[in-house]
Amino acid sequence: LSDRLAETFKNLRTKGKLSPADVDATVREIRRALLDADVALEVVKDFTGKVRERALGDEVNKALNPAQQVVQIVNEELVAILGGEARRIQFAKKPPTVIMLAGLQGAGKTTLAGKLAKWLAKDNHTPLLVAADLQRPNAVNQLQVVAGQAGVAVFAPEPGNGTGNPVKVAKDSIKFAIDKQYDVVIVDTAGRLGVDADMMKQASDIRKAVDPDEVLFVIDAMIGQDAVATAKAFQDGVDFTGVVLTKLDGDARGGAALSVASVTGRPIIFASTGESLDDFEPFYPDRMASRILDLGDILTLIEQAQSAFDEGEAMKMAEKFATDTFTLEDFLAQMQQLRGAGSIKKMMGMLPGMGGMKQQLENFDEREIVRTEAIIQSMTKAERQNSKLLNGSRRLRIAKGSGMTVTDVNQLVQRFEQAAKMMKTVAKGGMPNIPGMGPV
Ligand code: GDP
Ligand code: MG
Repeated sequence: LSDRLAETFKNLRTKGKLSPADVDATVREIRRALLDADVALEVVKDFTGKVRERALGDEVNKALNPAQQVVQIVNEELVAILGGEARRIQFAKKPPTVIMLAGLQGAGKTTLAGKLAKWLAKDNHTPLLVAADLQRPNAVNQLQVVAGQAGVAVFAPEPGNGTGNPVKVAKDSIKFAIDKQYDVVIVDTAGRLGVDADMMKQASDIRKAVDPDEVLFVIDAMIGQDAVATAKAFQDGVDFTGVVLTKLDGDARGGAALSVASVTGRPIIFASTGESLDDFEPFYPDRMASRILDLGDILTLIEQAQSAFDEGEAMKMAEKFATDTFTLEDFLAQMQQLRGAGSIKKMMGMLPGMGGMKQQLENFDEREIVRTEAIIQSMTKAERQNSKLLNGSRRLRIAKGSGMTVTDVNQLVQRFEQAAKMMKTVAKGGMPNIPGMGPV
């Protein structure tokens, strides 16, 4: 299905102006892609409504490349819902910073406690893990194992002494942390398999007892359509300041991220991507946006293409290709632009369906540009404007002037003519701008 979306964008790309029907078709595909990524229906409706409105507006109509503009709108709106700028942990002005974890059983809270602790310890913090999940017999032990792996301390009830009261354990842990100068306290709590009033009450009581700087709601990205109900229940029952999305190493496209962020208005702060303690990173809204739409790196590609080829320049060239006034001078200018484009191969790799072109680029040689420059610079202005003037004696003179052989000159002229022909087709067919890239 993401292929269908890519296809839709590709179709748009070939059109000059977008009709309302084009916009509707695109919005339909975006809706499908989001539903496929398990984004909740209410969120999808809201989202596509916004995109449609903007896509029909002036910014798209006036854009040089309306399709590109629509892609950008989709991305912008996704990133906005996902929290815009990446949000980071807020530390207390006066330590310890208290971070409480809440979420369903199996969401990945205990694992996250270890990941967070390890990550903070690397940054010269001194975290303390608190075992306030006394529900499952093995929970305290699991936290101890994780703490051992992270190389950090644990605060847990002494066996047989005050066990069974997670609120008291949590409260005591803060005093302990102040006393022993731990600067971050991470409170692991109990979850249940489903939303449950007792669990919510306990989490809410712990929250009141420790007055956390951050309450992180931990949610499994694979939860899919249940994400909205679960997140709302936790927001009502405990409330939270941020979200951590776990199990992003699975094949979930991350629709849960969009749903949760959208219905709760809370930022996603971290992403958990595996069972090992190092599989953990700050959350980047823009990366998640492309993962949800599964557009590959199409946006990066657009940016690179934009910076490499001045758009106005590209339009002029397209015009030249189409009207047959493309000259050797233009050819040279384009090759020089290509050099400015940096890693062309990488760029082509990001374009869906450009495998064949990529193969050609494998053979592309930077030195080719230097040779081309030498030869074209040895031509007279008239020759550069009109390659038909290039008879045998002129070619010999150019070869001598540039330190190349006549064969080199012949090959260049031939390549130029092939390129001109190919680009003429391209200009009419509307493929992406890759000027100067004749068959190498
Ligand atoms: P808790 O009940 O919320 O404390 O969840 P746990 O931390 O005990 O994690 C439940 C299971 O999910 C464990 O087997 C973890 O190893 C696993 N897990 C946690 N986070 C991730 C993750 O990001 N990716 C994967 N693949 N597994 C995870
Ligand atoms: Mg746990």
